[in-house]
Amino acid sequence: MAKWDFTSELVGSFSEGSNGNPTVAMIEAAFRHHGLKWRYINCEVPPGRLADAVKGARAMGWKGFNLSIPHKVAVIQHLDGLGESAAIMGAVNCVVNRGGKLIGENTDGKGFLKSLTEVVDPKGKAIVMFGAGGAARAIGVELALAGAKSLTIVNRSAGRAEPLVKLLNEKTKAPATLVVWPTHYRVPEGTGIVVNATSIGLGDGNEPLDVDLASLKPGMVVADVIVDPPDTRFLRDAKAQGCTVIDGLGMLVNQGVIGVKYWTGLDFDPSVMRRELEGIFGA
Ligand code: NDP
Repeated sequence: MAKWDFTSELVGSFSEGSNGNPTVAMIEAAFRHHGLKWRYINCEVPPGRLADAVKGARAMGWKGFNLSIPHKVAVIQHLDGLGESAAIMGAVNCVVNRGGKLIGENTDGKGFLKSLTEVVDPKGKAIVMFGAGGAARAIGVELALAGAKSLTIVNRSAGRAEPLVKLLNEKTKAPATLVVWPTHYRVPEGTGIVVNATSIGLGDGNEPLDVDLASLKPGMVVADVIVDPPDTRFLRDAKAQGCTVIDGLGMLVNQGVIGVKYWTGLDFDPSVMRRELEGIFGA
């Protein structure tokens, strides 16, 4: 056996705008905490270079990698297979090297689900979700697979929401309906869970959601995907109405925990990862 070992196991991320992505800080903090000789490399990869980046990861024996904007759909053609929810969504944010085969998973929705189920089980619940972009798609599919009673997708543009509603109705058992966002949307009585999966609140914690606040009732669980800042106006408003609230850091931390479990086989301590993010975003 060699006296020294100067190599590390490698994972990382391919995206554009990678300098704004905090995942590397969160995951490397966890590697240090757990004493693993692993590195997470945050890479700036333009669309025309994605195929080469995946080939490079294969050549170097990377254990896996995350994908962020704009690669979550485009990466699929370069992979060897897909997990169940990634196949339904048609989007991959986490690739896992399983015995030399690159398998695409989607941990965004799973991370959201984990942070939600720490507070409430979505099974049998009527759910209202604002937004129909990538995050909403991942969350909607996981909520449906977890047995949601119904999903109401409220979105500004019908064009983006229609394919999501169609996908939920065709590929899951949860009935989904589309509401084009009206002024002062009233959350229907009987709703158990309300999710903001839009980018409203990102970078500006004071931007409100156009919702009739009186329709938010104590007993509802209200979740937001925004991490910067995590304490959004929507969550503050919902809390003032007596709702239980869940911030976006839980989703980010848990998708990280699920990703590193896929890569290393180990259960990481979420509190170390959350502390690192709180240090960054001042939560
Ligand atoms: P997309 O660009 O794919 O979708 C954005 C969504 O927000 C669309 O539904 C869009 O509506 C809606 N939207 C944006 N601005 C407005 C507005 N002013 N009024 C009404 N609706 C609006 O983004 P993603 O789904 O990828 O990301 C959404 C947010 O989720 C981001 O802030 C991202 O940072 C966060 N996120 C958090 C994660 C976490 O781990 N916490 C993980 C992934 C994402 P329309 O279709 O009409 O344009």
